[in-house]
Amino acid sequence: MDVRELWQKMLDELETTLPALGFDTLVETTVPVSITDGKLILCTNSEVSKSLVQKRFAQQIRLAMQMVLPMLDDVEFITEAQKDLYINKEEVLRPVCHNFEETVFIKKYTFDNFVVGKSNEFVAAAARAVSEAPGKKFNPLFIYGGVGLGKTHLLHAIGNHLMKSKPKFKTLYVSCEKFTNELIEAIRDTNEAKKAFREKYRSCDVLMIDDIQFVSKTDATQEELFHTFNDLYSAEKQIIISSDRPPKEIQHLEDRLRTRFAWGMIADIKPPDLETRIAILQKKASEQNANVSNDILKVIANNVQTNIRDMEGLLTRVISYASLINHSVIDMDVVKEALKDYTDDQKEMISVDNIIDAVTEYFSIDKEALVGKKKNKEIVEPRQICIYLITEFLTLPLVKIGEVFGGRDHTTILHARNKIEEQCKTDGRISVYVKDLKDMLLKK
Ligand code: ADP
Ligand code: MG
Repeated sequence: MDVRELWQKMLDELETTLPALGFDTLVETTVPVSITDGKLILCTNSEVSKSLVQKRFAQQIRLAMQMVLPMLDDVEFITEAQKDLYINKEEVLRPVCHNFEETVFIKKYTFDNFVVGKSNEFVAAAARAVSEAPGKKFNPLFIYGGVGLGKTHLLHAIGNHLMKSKPKFKTLYVSCEKFTNELIEAIRDTNEAKKAFREKYRSCDVLMIDDIQFVSKTDATQEELFHTFNDLYSAEKQIIISSDRPPKEIQHLEDRLRTRFAWGMIADIKPPDLETRIAILQKKASEQNANVSNDILKVIANNVQTNIRDMEGLLTRVISYASLINHSVIDMDVVKEALKDYTDDQKEMISVDNIIDAVTEYFSIDKEALVGKKKNKEIVEPRQICIYLITEFLTLPLVKIGEVFGGRDHTTILHARNKIEEQCKTDGRISVYVKDLKDMLLKK
């Protein structure tokens, strides 16, 4: 990967985390220069841009870098004047010699950075136990809980721990989606590719599959999962699975897998109470080197109750807002201002669920199918209409909407939105549907 490629991948991440305006500013003012001494060097077009980018985006840029290339240590911002010092020093990026090619764990997702409270003490203890004695105690470990409650964080914490304590172990983390895609590719490809796929997944010491609720219904995927599970399990290798719901509620899961997932330990993560949320915010604020009083943290914690990722986003928003308007002290005024949009969003009468309910009622289809993977016209059309309505009524990022619809790509969401928008002008039938549904929603 060269520095441009790295930056492009980071921008893909940043596009989902930065406000649109901020993202545009970043793209306009900043270019990647090189990677020097383990640092990504970014050049901004003036001193003013440099301090702006540093203040507002540095944290998010670092996070994006960690996601894309965790072996890098830091980001450094320079201006044109310093560029010559760096430009010829480009280092060739060699992947670090992990014992296993695919294993890249996010550095900051550790056990130390995971705040434990009543809502998650059991699951955290189970995760720790597994990382101390993989394959021995709880096998498989099945973790489930709502979006943004720390499942992925815990999986990476186990991975980070094992990288240190058992460097020879093959510890493999994969999203269910990636597992499925790799499998499909391998099946299409040669027998060699199929063998390589099997070898990869059945030869590891620890296999973590994240977000198993997205498991595809196809026989091939279920079959492969089943055999992978059996091979690893009988060799006493650790299997760790995460999901947003318990095994019995995962729709497409074959019974033989469902029962196997319950052989070991099932642990759930619940939304944290206020005290834990504040403790998490304290940790995140100190990670960002920001000094935020407990009163302020409490306000933030009270604004988001069930999704830690959103709560973290809100904290970042408050911190960047304060630095933007050069408030050295983060007081209630800053918070109020920074939260304005957010609370407005919250107060919006119509929610994603309202829209989904209206669409399923209107077309007499069930929700599972609407947000699922089925491709027949009876479902696809209502699904696209539903996506269109969500973009009309709410200010959700496309990526988030994609998550609602079974982890679809943001380009798919955009396509659906544009298609229906177009059809509203040209196709009387569709425009009637949309109008009816809008009426239904606005009457609520
Ligand atoms: P999930 O995979 O369950 O959707 P993530 O693991 O991605 O959620 O967590 C979302 C964000 O919330 C991450 O930044 C994570 O670090 C943070 N988070 C969640 N729970 C905790 C916790 N108990 N302590 C610290 N951070 C947490
Ligand atoms: Mg996750």
